[in-house]
Amino acid sequence: MNFCLNSRWLCSGSTTKVTNSAWFRYNGVLNCLIGQDIFDVLVIGAGPTGLACAIEARRAGFTAVNLDKGCLVNSLCHYPVNMTFFTTPELLEIGDIPFTTSNQKPSRLEALEYYRKVAAHYSLDVRQYQAVGSIEGCDGEFRVTTRDRYDGGHEYAARKLVIATGFYDRPNLLKVPGEDLPKVLHYYNEPHPYFDTDVIVVGGRNSAAIAALELWRHGARVTLVHRGPGIHERVKYWIRPDILNRIKNGEVKAYFNSAIQAITPAEVLLHTPQGDATLKNDFVLAMTGYHPDFDFLRRAGIELGPECRPACNSETLESNVPGIYLAGVIIAGVRTGEIFIENGRFHGAQIAGDLKRKLRPHVATLQPEPAPPPRPAHLQSAE
Ligand SMILES: Cc1cc2nc3c(=O)[nH]c(=O)nc-3n(C[C@H](O)[C@H](O)[C@H](O)COP(=O)(O)OP(=O)(O)OC[C@H]3O[C@@H](n4cnc5c(N)ncnc54)[C@H](O)[C@@H]3O)c2cc1C
Repeated sequence: MNFCLNSRWLCSGSTTKVTNSAWFRYNGVLNCLIGQDIFDVLVIGAGPTGLACAIEARRAGFTAVNLDKGCLVNSLCHYPVNMTFFTTPELLEIGDIPFTTSNQKPSRLEALEYYRKVAAHYSLDVRQYQAVGSIEGCDGEFRVTTRDRYDGGHEYAARKLVIATGFYDRPNLLKVPGEDLPKVLHYYNEPHPYFDTDVIVVGGRNSAAIAALELWRHGARVTLVHRGPGIHERVKYWIRPDILNRIKNGEVKAYFNSAIQAITPAEVLLHTPQGDATLKNDFVLAMTGYHPDFDFLRRAGIELGPECRPACNSETLESNVPGIYLAGVIIAGVRTGEIFIENGRFHGAQIAGDLKRKLRPHVATLQPEPAPPPRPAHLQSAE
Protein backbone atom coordinates (compact mmCIF):
# COMPACT_ATOMS: atom_id res chain seq x y z
CA MET A 1 0.00 0.00 0.00
CA ASN A 2 1.27 3.47 -0.80
CA PHE A 3 0.60 5.87 1.96
CA CYS A 4 1.28 9.51 1.35
CA LEU A 5 0.65 12.21 3.90
CA ASN A 6 0.82 15.50 2.12
CA SER A 7 -1.20 18.03 3.96
CA ARG A 8 -0.75 20.45 6.84
CA TRP A 9 0.04 19.13 10.30
CA LEU A 10 -1.05 20.65 13.53
CA CYS A 11 0.47 19.76 16.86
CA SER A 12 -2.40 19.18 19.27
CA GLY A 13 -0.54 18.64 22.51
CA SER A 14 0.13 14.93 22.47
CA THR A 15 -0.15 14.06 18.81
CA THR A 16 -0.10 15.55 15.37
CA LYS A 17 -3.45 15.97 13.68
CA VAL A 18 -4.14 16.14 10.00
CA THR A 19 -6.09 19.35 9.67
CA ASN A 20 -6.77 19.49 5.96
CA SER A 21 -6.43 16.06 4.47
CA ALA A 22 -4.01 13.20 4.28
CA TRP A 23 -4.24 10.97 1.31
CA PHE A 24 -3.26 7.34 1.17
CA ARG A 25 -3.66 4.67 -1.43
CA TYR A 26 -5.27 1.49 -0.07
CA ASN A 27 -6.36 -1.41 -2.26
CA GLY A 28 -5.81 0.86 -5.23
CA VAL A 29 -8.19 3.51 -3.96
CA LEU A 30 -7.21 6.96 -2.81
CA ASN A 31 -8.55 7.54 0.68
CA CYS A 32 -8.50 10.54 2.88
CA LEU A 33 -7.90 10.68 6.65
CA ILE A 34 -9.34 13.74 8.25
CA GLY A 35 -8.72 14.70 11.82
CA GLN A 36 -6.75 11.53 12.56
CA ASP A 37 -3.98 11.46 15.12
CA ILE A 38 -0.57 10.56 13.79
CA PHE A 39 1.55 9.08 16.54
CA ASP A 40 5.31 9.06 16.43
CA VAL A 41 5.35 5.61 18.00
CA LEU A 42 2.56 3.06 18.17
CA VAL A 43 3.20 0.15 20.51
CA ILE A 44 1.20 -3.03 19.99
CA GLY A 45 0.78 -4.58 23.44
CA ALA A 46 0.50 -3.03 26.89
CA GLY A 47 2.42 -5.64 28.85
CA PRO A 48 5.41 -4.62 30.99
CA THR A 49 7.59 -4.42 27.88
CA GLY A 50 5.09 -2.45 25.79
CA LEU A 51 4.60 0.02 28.65
CA ALA A 52 8.38 0.43 29.04
CA CYS A 53 8.62 1.13 25.29
CA ALA A 54 5.96 3.85 25.46
CA ILE A 55 7.56 5.42 28.54
CA GLU A 56 11.00 5.58 26.93
CA ALA A 57 9.56 6.95 23.67
CA ARG A 58 7.73 9.65 25.61
CA ARG A 59 10.85 10.49 27.59
CA ALA A 60 12.71 10.93 24.30
CA GLY A 61 10.13 13.51 23.24
CA PHE A 62 7.93 11.39 20.99
CA THR A 63 4.19 10.89 21.10
CA ALA A 64 3.21 7.29 21.82
CA VAL A 65 0.13 5.12 22.11
CA ASN A 66 -0.29 1.53 23.31
CA LEU A 67 -2.95 -0.71 21.81
CA ASP A 68 -3.90 -3.89 23.66
CA LYS A 69 -6.39 -6.60 22.84
CA GLY A 70 -7.16 -6.92 26.56
CA CYS A 71 -6.68 -4.80 29.63
CA LEU A 72 -3.50 -3.15 30.87
CA VAL A 73 -0.87 -5.87 31.49
CA ASN A 74 -3.40 -8.34 30.15
CA SER A 75 -1.16 -11.40 30.48
CA LEU A 76 -0.38 -10.75 34.14
CA CYS A 77 -4.07 -10.22 34.78
CA HIS A 78 -4.69 -13.77 33.51
CA TYR A 79 -1.88 -15.42 35.47
CA PRO A 80 -2.92 -17.75 38.32
CA VAL A 81 -4.77 -15.59 40.83
CA ASN A 82 -2.56 -16.47 43.78
CA MET A 83 0.77 -16.46 41.96
CA THR A 84 3.95 -14.98 43.34
CA PHE A 85 6.62 -13.79 40.93
CA PHE A 86 9.97 -15.58 40.86
CA THR A 87 11.66 -12.23 40.61
CA THR A 88 12.39 -9.70 43.32
CA PRO A 89 10.47 -6.45 42.79
CA GLU A 90 13.32 -4.17 41.72
CA LEU A 91 13.92 -6.42 38.69
CA LEU A 92 10.35 -5.87 37.51
CA GLU A 93 10.57 -2.07 37.62
CA ILE A 94 9.98 0.10 34.56
CA GLY A 95 10.29 3.84 34.02
CA ASP A 96 12.53 4.18 37.12
CA ILE A 97 9.49 3.91 39.38
CA PRO A 98 10.34 1.92 42.53
CA PHE A 99 8.39 -1.29 43.12
CA THR A 100 8.24 -2.20 46.79
CA THR A 101 6.66 -5.09 48.62
CA SER A 102 6.85 -6.25 52.21
CA ASN A 103 7.53 -9.74 50.90
CA GLN A 104 10.66 -11.05 49.26
CA LYS A 105 8.83 -11.53 45.93
CA PRO A 106 5.77 -9.60 44.77
CA SER A 107 2.40 -11.19 44.14
CA ARG A 108 0.40 -10.94 40.94
CA LEU A 109 -1.94 -8.47 42.68
CA GLU A 110 0.96 -6.23 43.70
CA ALA A 111 2.36 -6.31 40.16
CA LEU A 112 -1.04 -5.36 38.72
CA GLU A 113 -1.21 -2.41 41.12
CA TYR A 114 2.34 -1.41 40.30
CA TYR A 115 2.02 -1.38 36.50
CA ARG A 116 -1.31 0.44 36.73
CA LYS A 117 0.28 3.14 38.89
CA VAL A 118 3.21 3.44 36.49
CA ALA A 119 0.88 3.85 33.52
CA ALA A 120 -1.05 6.52 35.41
CA HIS A 121 2.13 8.26 36.58
CA TYR A 122 3.34 8.68 33.02
CA SER A 123 -0.19 9.42 31.72
CA LEU A 124 0.30 6.74 29.10
CA ASP A 125 -2.22 6.66 26.30
CA VAL A 126 -3.34 3.03 26.46
CA ARG A 127 -6.24 1.98 24.25
CA GLN A 128 -7.54 -1.22 25.87
CA TYR A 129 -9.65 -3.97 24.35
CA GLN A 130 -8.53 -3.29 20.82
CA ALA A 131 -6.93 -6.21 18.99
CA VAL A 132 -4.60 -5.18 16.21
CA GLY A 133 -5.53 -6.94 12.99
CA SER A 134 -3.48 -5.47 10.20
CA ILE A 135 -0.42 -3.35 9.66
CA GLU A 136 -0.16 -1.47 6.39
CA GLY A 137 2.13 1.17 4.95
CA CYS A 138 5.83 1.69 5.39
CA ASP A 139 8.43 3.39 7.54
CA GLY A 140 7.17 6.82 8.57
CA GLU A 141 3.68 6.13 7.30
CA PHE A 142 2.20 3.09 9.01
CA ARG A 143 -1.49 2.45 9.34
CA VAL A 144 -2.79 0.00 11.95
CA THR A 145 -6.33 -1.30 12.16
CA THR A 146 -7.95 -2.72 15.30
CA ARG A 147 -11.19 -4.43 16.33
CA ASP A 148 -12.79 -3.63 19.66
CA ARG A 149 -14.99 -5.91 21.81
CA TYR A 150 -18.09 -4.96 19.88
CA ASP A 151 -16.44 -5.66 16.52
CA GLY A 152 -16.05 -1.96 15.86
CA GLY A 153 -13.15 -1.03 13.60
CA HIS A 154 -10.54 1.60 14.50
CA GLU A 155 -7.61 2.95 12.60
CA TYR A 156 -4.36 4.53 13.73
CA ALA A 157 -1.52 6.17 11.88
CA ALA A 158 2.05 6.19 13.16
CA ARG A 159 5.56 6.86 12.01
CA LYS A 160 7.17 3.93 13.84
CA LEU A 161 5.76 0.70 15.26
CA VAL A 162 6.84 -1.46 18.16
CA ILE A 163 5.46 -4.99 18.39
CA ALA A 164 5.44 -6.22 22.01
CA THR A 165 2.72 -8.83 21.87
CA GLY A 166 4.18 -11.40 24.26
CA PHE A 167 3.37 -15.10 24.15
CA TYR A 168 0.64 -15.87 26.66
CA ASP A 169 -2.27 -15.95 24.20
CA ARG A 170 -1.07 -19.03 22.33
CA PRO A 171 -0.67 -22.29 24.25
CA ASN A 172 1.57 -25.07 22.94
CA LEU A 173 -0.98 -27.75 22.11
CA LEU A 174 -0.72 -31.45 22.95
CA LYS A 175 -2.07 -32.28 19.49
CA VAL A 176 -3.92 -35.40 20.65
CA PRO A 177 -7.51 -36.53 20.09
CA GLY A 178 -9.84 -35.05 22.70
CA GLU A 179 -7.78 -31.91 23.32
CA ASP A 180 -10.80 -29.84 22.32
CA LEU A 181 -12.91 -31.23 25.20
CA PRO A 182 -13.92 -28.52 27.69
CA LYS A 183 -12.17 -30.37 30.53
CA VAL A 184 -8.78 -29.76 28.85
CA LEU A 185 -7.34 -26.42 29.93
CA HIS A 186 -4.14 -24.66 28.96
CA TYR A 187 -4.39 -22.04 31.70
CA TYR A 188 -4.36 -22.75 35.42
CA ASN A 189 -6.12 -20.16 37.52
CA GLU A 190 -6.81 -21.48 41.03
CA PRO A 191 -7.21 -24.85 42.77
CA HIS A 192 -10.75 -24.66 44.16
CA PRO A 193 -12.69 -25.88 41.10
CA TYR A 194 -10.72 -29.14 41.21
CA PHE A 195 -11.48 -30.34 44.78
CA ASP A 196 -12.15 -34.12 44.90
CA THR A 197 -11.46 -34.60 41.18
CA ASP A 198 -8.86 -36.56 39.19
CA VAL A 199 -6.56 -34.06 37.52
CA ILE A 200 -3.70 -34.74 35.14
CA VAL A 201 -1.10 -31.97 34.99
CA VAL A 202 1.05 -32.13 31.87
CA GLY A 203 4.58 -30.69 32.01
CA GLY A 204 7.72 -30.77 34.13
CA ARG A 205 8.65 -27.13 34.61
CA ASN A 206 7.71 -24.40 37.10
CA SER A 207 4.10 -23.90 36.02
CA ALA A 208 3.34 -27.62 36.08
CA ALA A 209 5.05 -28.13 39.45
CA ILE A 210 3.29 -25.14 41.03
CA ALA A 211 -0.13 -26.20 39.71
CA ALA A 212 0.37 -29.81 40.83
CA LEU A 213 1.36 -28.73 44.35
CA GLU A 214 -1.47 -26.23 44.74
CA LEU A 215 -4.03 -28.71 43.43
CA TRP A 216 -2.81 -31.48 45.76
CA ARG A 217 -2.91 -29.09 48.74
CA HIS A 218 -6.52 -28.22 47.91
CA GLY A 219 -7.90 -31.74 47.72
CA ALA A 220 -7.46 -32.79 44.09
CA ARG A 221 -6.04 -36.22 43.15
CA VAL A 222 -3.09 -35.19 40.99
CA THR A 223 -1.12 -37.12 38.39
CA LEU A 224 1.82 -35.44 36.68
CA VAL A 225 2.66 -36.53 33.13
CA HIS A 226 5.89 -35.33 31.53
CA ARG A 227 7.66 -36.38 28.37
CA GLY A 228 11.05 -35.65 29.99
CA PRO A 229 12.90 -37.98 32.39
CA GLY A 230 12.02 -35.99 35.54
CA ILE A 231 11.17 -32.61 37.02
CA HIS A 232 13.26 -30.10 35.10
CA GLU A 233 16.61 -29.15 36.68
CA ARG A 234 15.80 -25.45 36.38
CA VAL A 235 12.58 -25.55 38.38
CA LYS A 236 13.04 -22.92 41.11
CA TYR A 237 15.04 -24.10 44.10
CA TRP A 238 12.16 -23.54 46.55
CA ILE A 239 9.66 -25.47 44.40
CA ARG A 240 11.70 -28.45 43.18
CA PRO A 241 12.29 -30.22 46.52
CA ASP A 242 8.61 -29.78 47.39
CA ILE A 243 7.32 -31.49 44.24
CA LEU A 244 10.02 -34.18 44.36
CA ASN A 245 9.03 -35.05 47.92
CA ARG A 246 5.32 -35.15 47.06
CA ILE A 247 6.13 -37.58 44.23
CA LYS A 248 8.43 -39.64 46.46
CA ASN A 249 5.67 -39.94 49.09
CA GLY A 250 3.13 -40.98 46.46
CA GLU A 251 1.00 -37.92 47.21
CA VAL A 252 1.35 -36.78 43.60
CA LYS A 253 1.62 -39.63 41.08
CA ALA A 254 4.10 -39.04 38.27
CA TYR A 255 4.70 -40.60 34.85
CA PHE A 256 7.97 -39.48 33.25
CA ASN A 257 9.14 -40.22 29.69
CA SER A 258 5.40 -40.47 29.07
CA ALA A 259 2.88 -38.80 26.80
CA ILE A 260 -0.88 -38.52 26.51
CA GLN A 261 -2.21 -40.47 23.53
CA ALA A 262 -5.90 -39.55 23.70
CA ILE A 263 -8.41 -37.84 25.99
CA THR A 264 -12.02 -38.91 26.42
CA PRO A 265 -14.68 -37.35 28.68
CA ALA A 266 -13.92 -39.77 31.56
CA GLU A 267 -10.41 -41.10 30.83
CA VAL A 268 -6.94 -40.36 29.52
CA LEU A 269 -4.85 -42.86 27.57
CA LEU A 270 -1.14 -42.64 28.38
CA HIS A 271 1.87 -44.05 26.64
CA THR A 272 4.51 -44.85 29.28
CA PRO A 273 7.82 -46.77 29.24
CA GLN A 274 5.97 -49.59 31.07
CA GLY A 275 3.27 -49.73 28.39
CA ASP A 276 -0.03 -47.98 27.78
CA ALA A 277 -2.19 -47.00 30.74
CA THR A 278 -5.76 -45.72 30.99
CA LEU A 279 -6.42 -43.28 33.84
CA LYS A 280 -9.75 -42.13 35.25
CA ASN A 281 -9.81 -38.39 34.66
CA ASP A 282 -11.93 -35.28 35.23
CA PHE A 283 -9.55 -32.51 34.09
CA VAL A 284 -6.36 -32.14 32.11
CA LEU A 285 -4.24 -29.07 32.79
CA ALA A 286 -1.70 -28.79 29.98
CA MET A 287 1.11 -26.66 31.40
CA THR A 288 3.13 -27.04 28.23
CA GLY A 289 4.07 -23.44 27.63
CA TYR A 290 3.03 -20.77 25.16
CA HIS A 291 4.42 -19.21 22.01
CA PRO A 292 4.26 -15.82 20.25
CA ASP A 293 1.79 -15.23 17.43
CA PHE A 294 4.19 -16.00 14.61
CA ASP A 295 1.55 -15.52 11.90
CA PHE A 296 0.99 -11.98 13.12
CA LEU A 297 4.72 -11.27 12.72
CA ARG A 298 4.79 -12.89 9.28
CA ARG A 299 1.81 -10.84 8.16
CA ALA A 300 3.73 -7.71 9.18
CA GLY A 301 6.52 -8.84 6.84
CA ILE A 302 8.89 -9.94 9.58
CA GLU A 303 11.17 -12.79 8.64
CA LEU A 304 11.46 -15.69 11.05
CA GLY A 305 14.71 -17.62 11.34
CA PRO A 306 15.60 -20.86 13.13
CA GLU A 307 13.41 -21.49 16.19
CA CYS A 308 11.07 -18.82 14.79
CA ARG A 309 13.39 -16.05 15.98
CA PRO A 310 12.32 -12.87 14.16
CA ALA A 311 14.94 -10.97 12.16
CA CYS A 312 15.96 -8.08 14.37
CA ASN A 313 19.04 -5.93 14.97
CA SER A 314 20.27 -6.86 18.44
CA GLU A 315 21.39 -3.27 19.17
CA THR A 316 18.42 -1.29 17.93
CA LEU A 317 15.74 -4.03 17.95
CA GLU A 318 14.58 -2.84 14.53
CA SER A 319 13.26 -5.77 12.50
CA ASN A 320 13.94 -6.47 8.84
CA VAL A 321 10.96 -4.20 8.10
CA PRO A 322 12.28 -0.65 8.42
CA GLY A 323 10.42 1.25 11.11
CA ILE A 324 9.02 -1.85 12.86
CA TYR A 325 10.73 -2.66 16.16
CA LEU A 326 10.34 -5.80 18.24
CA ALA A 327 10.34 -5.92 22.02
CA GLY A 328 9.94 -8.41 24.84
CA VAL A 329 9.57 -12.13 24.72
CA ILE A 330 8.68 -12.31 20.99
CA ILE A 331 12.34 -11.70 20.16
CA ALA A 332 13.23 -15.15 21.51
CA GLY A 333 11.00 -17.05 19.07
CA VAL A 334 10.01 -20.38 20.58
CA ARG A 335 12.68 -20.00 23.30
CA THR A 336 10.30 -18.02 25.47
CA GLY A 337 12.32 -18.73 28.60
CA GLU A 338 15.15 -16.49 27.39
CA ILE A 339 13.33 -13.17 27.71
CA PHE A 340 11.05 -12.22 30.56
CA ILE A 341 10.18 -9.02 32.37
CA GLU A 342 13.60 -8.84 34.03
CA ASN A 343 15.44 -8.32 30.74
CA GLY A 344 12.62 -7.34 28.34
CA ARG A 345 11.99 -4.18 30.34
CA PHE A 346 15.21 -2.68 28.91
CA HIS A 347 14.07 -3.02 25.30
CA GLY A 348 12.20 0.30 25.46
CA ALA A 349 15.40 2.24 26.13
CA GLN A 350 17.20 0.42 23.29
CA ILE A 351 14.44 1.30 20.84
CA ALA A 352 14.16 4.90 22.05
CA GLY A 353 17.92 5.29 21.48
CA ASP A 354 17.47 4.34 17.84
CA LEU A 355 14.35 6.48 17.45
CA LYS A 356 16.34 9.49 18.62
CA ARG A 357 18.85 8.87 15.83
CA LYS A 358 16.24 8.29 13.12
CA LEU A 359 13.11 10.22 13.96
CA ARG A 360 12.79 13.85 14.83
CA PRO A 361 9.99 14.56 17.26
CA HIS A 362 7.00 15.65 15.21
CA VAL A 363 7.14 19.18 16.63
CA ALA A 364 10.43 19.66 14.79
CA THR A 365 8.94 18.62 11.46
CA LEU A 366 5.88 20.81 11.59
CA GLN A 367 5.38 23.28 8.84
CA PRO A 368 5.18 26.76 10.29
CA GLU A 369 1.69 27.96 11.00
CA PRO A 370 0.69 31.00 8.97
CA ALA A 371 1.23 34.30 10.77
CA PRO A 372 -1.80 35.27 12.85
CA PRO A 373 -3.87 38.22 11.62
CA PRO A 374 -2.90 41.60 13.16
CA ARG A 375 -4.42 42.23 16.58
CA PRO A 376 -7.27 44.73 16.62
CA ALA A 377 -6.08 48.21 17.55
CA HIS A 378 -8.10 48.38 20.79
CA LEU A 379 -6.37 45.19 22.07
CA GLN A 380 -2.91 46.37 21.04
CA SER A 381 -3.29 49.46 23.18
CA ALA A 382 -3.91 47.29 26.23
CA GLU A 383 -0.64 45.28 25.82
C1 LIG B 1 2.96 -17.86 35.37
C2 LIG B 1 4.09 -16.98 34.90
C3 LIG B 1 4.98 -16.44 35.83
C4 LIG B 1 6.00 -15.59 35.42
N1 LIG B 1 6.88 -15.08 36.35
C5 LIG B 1 7.86 -14.23 35.94
C6 LIG B 1 8.77 -13.65 36.89
O1 LIG B 1 8.73 -13.94 38.08
N2 LIG B 1 9.70 -12.78 36.43
C7 LIG B 1 9.79 -12.44 35.11
O2 LIG B 1 10.65 -11.61 34.78
N3 LIG B 1 8.97 -12.99 34.20
C8 LIG B 1 8.01 -13.87 34.57
N4 LIG B 1 7.17 -14.44 33.65
C9 LIG B 1 7.35 -14.12 32.22
C10 LIG B 1 6.80 -12.76 31.94
O3 LIG B 1 5.55 -12.55 32.54
C11 LIG B 1 6.66 -12.53 30.46
O4 LIG B 1 7.89 -12.84 29.85
C12 LIG B 1 6.32 -11.07 30.22
O5 LIG B 1 4.98 -10.83 30.57
C13 LIG B 1 6.58 -10.69 28.84
O6 LIG B 1 6.24 -9.32 28.75
P1 LIG B 1 5.75 -8.76 27.38
O7 LIG B 1 5.37 -7.34 27.62
O8 LIG B 1 6.76 -9.07 26.34
O9 LIG B 1 4.48 -9.65 27.02
P2 LIG B 1 3.05 -9.69 27.74
O10 LIG B 1 3.14 -9.34 29.17
O11 LIG B 1 2.46 -11.00 27.38
O12 LIG B 1 2.27 -8.51 27.00
C14 LIG B 1 1.85 -8.64 25.67
C15 LIG B 1 0.57 -7.84 25.50
O13 LIG B 1 0.24 -7.81 24.11
C16 LIG B 1 -1.17 -7.94 23.98
N5 LIG B 1 -1.44 -8.41 22.63
C17 LIG B 1 -1.12 -9.59 22.06
N6 LIG B 1 -1.53 -9.64 20.79
C18 LIG B 1 -2.13 -8.46 20.52
C19 LIG B 1 -2.78 -7.91 19.37
N7 LIG B 1 -2.87 -8.57 18.22
N8 LIG B 1 -3.32 -6.66 19.46
C20 LIG B 1 -3.23 -5.95 20.63
N9 LIG B 1 -2.63 -6.44 21.74
C21 LIG B 1 -2.08 -7.66 21.68
C22 LIG B 1 -1.55 -8.92 25.08
O14 LIG B 1 -2.92 -8.77 25.43
C23 LIG B 1 -0.61 -8.49 26.22
O15 LIG B 1 -1.18 -7.54 27.09
C24 LIG B 1 6.15 -15.30 34.05
C25 LIG B 1 5.26 -15.84 33.11
C26 LIG B 1 4.26 -16.69 33.52
C27 LIG B 1 3.33 -17.26 32.49
